[in-house]
Amino acid sequence: MLFLISYHANLINPSIKNTCDVVSYFYTFAALITHLNMSLLVVGTVAFDAIETPFGKTDKIIGGAATYASLAASYFVDQINLVSVVGDDFPSETIQELNNHNINTKGLQIKQGEKSFFWSGRYHNDMNTRDTLATELNVIMNFDPAIPPSYQDCTFLMLGNLMPAIQMRVIERLVNRPKLIVMDTMNFWMETAMDDLVKVIAMVDVLTINDAEARQLSGEYSLVKAAQAILKMGPKYLIIKKGEHGALLFNNEQVFFAPALPLEDVFDPTGAGDTFAGGFIGYLARTKDISFENMKRGIIFGSAMASFCVEKFGTERIIGLEQEEVEERVQEFIDLVQFDITLV
Ligand code: AMP
Repeated sequence: MLFLISYHANLINPSIKNTCDVVSYFYTFAALITHLNMSLLVVGTVAFDAIETPFGKTDKIIGGAATYASLAASYFVDQINLVSVVGDDFPSETIQELNNHNINTKGLQIKQGEKSFFWSGRYHNDMNTRDTLATELNVIMNFDPAIPPSYQDCTFLMLGNLMPAIQMRVIERLVNRPKLIVMDTMNFWMETAMDDLVKVIAMVDVLTINDAEARQLSGEYSLVKAAQAILKMGPKYLIIKKGEHGALLFNNEQVFFAPALPLEDVFDPTGAGDTFAGGFIGYLARTKDISFENMKRGIIFGSAMASFCVEKFGTERIIGLEQEEVEERVQEFIDLVQFDITLV
């Protein structure tokens, strides 16, 4: 074996002569392969949103599940490959802003003469619940997700909120199944595409939904019973997001709960779920560890990212964050939940 590696190494680099050189060459090569294989693919809507909260109202601003998820993940991995679609009404400056966050937009289709996905929502006074006022699918209706060949090395796949049939097509078009597939969805798809939704849920490893959606999907009021029913549908893990009340992680044997950071100002919860998911999968991709224990840490990192998202309207707060700010926020989480206890 060593002989083969040594022969190969020498062919590529004739200055490699002794065993030490060969071993170091082997490790460099292995590290390179590992790095190449750790790519993160994010799929989902890139959109315009109009939002009303008790603190204000916006006209069309930038939103979309994949926008939030890829921005959040960009704080953890060097490059994110994006697959989505927009119309020719979408600003090129925003695409540039995504590129500045190391988000590769080769897989972002721009449809001439068509309009971008548009969503509008109004939050209730508690900011934990909202009404959807409009969902205009526009370019999403006929979206055929092409996966650029350079995206095929995908190890981690974030299927952000999108039409389930399209989410399924992305999985089918990847030559190799990613090491981890995380999927997010929402009530809209439960009401309009339940059959396809159930099929995709059966194909993924982790499903993230909010508490109302978990109840709607399972028909169970108790979140524990809802989780048991949803895990039977196929995913190995389920994350139930509870807004300002934190998040629950389930698999068939274990449960973990993380609170949300109590914040002084919550201006706009839009995108918090997608930002959470992006931070979660970004952390797992960075640490290359998909154990339950590491997913617990991923939930803390995801929650930290989501806590930034809600502090301003739209994507404003999660663009251009400093790495130290992220670290400080995670430390606040650690301080929040740490206590000493002695059982008597
Ligand atoms: P969140 O607040 O995390 O649930 O995500 C809100 C984002 O999801 C907004 O920026 C919307 O553009 C996007 N969105 C809303 N409805 C849908 C939908 N039916 N499918 C895909 N994305 C959606």
